[in-house]
Amino acid sequence: MAGEIRVLISEQQIAKRLDELAEVIGRDYKNRKLHCIGVLKGSFIFMADLVRRLPMDVSCDFLTISSYGDLTKSSGVVKLLTDLTVPIEGKDVLVVEDIVDTGLTLDYLLGNLKTRNPASLRVATLLHKPTNKKIEVPIHYCGFTVPDRFVVGYGLDNRQLQRNLPYIGWVPGDGDNE
Ligand code: 5GP
Repeated sequence: MAGEIRVLISEQQIAKRLDELAEVIGRDYKNRKLHCIGVLKGSFIFMADLVRRLPMDVSCDFLTISSYGDLTKSSGVVKLLTDLTVPIEGKDVLVVEDIVDTGLTLDYLLGNLKTRNPASLRVATLLHKPTNKKIEVPIHYCGFTVPDRFVVGYGLDNRQLQRNLPYIGWVPGDGDNE
């Protein structure tokens, strides 16, 4: 229930940080086209808010990855549920993720995407939870570093609910270590 959720990062903080990220990305890809790949489902709100702030030509595609099922702990098993709709060969690709936790999902995804020969491949993640890192993954643009708590909202779910919260919150006692 939404009443049990505590605010970790407010709507205003997210908006301000996205302005900053978009400025940096805009500078890095100046006069280039950017192909953004949103990792569903968790990144859909971040992706929508980020691409609307980008000044260059942007194309968008999505894929669906499953690594958690309905549990709050990583299973370590990554599955590609739906693939991209267009080839990425020769494109400047930015993977847009909701959160990097163990890094297993991103590691799998980057390995997969690299075989398709993009011109460049970078990662933007809204959140990074470094405490649970199991594998080193490159993160080029990061919104916020968060503590070891199960976070929800702004696209991130708790058993498929709470993605629609406009802020990032956490659920006391639900998968966090406090
Ligand atoms: P990783 O493979 O890095 O452990 O996990 C990445 C995926 O796990 C994310 O894309 C996200 O779907 C899910 N995940 C990891 N931590 C959290 C969390 O605190 N809250 C939610 N809702 N999902 C998480």
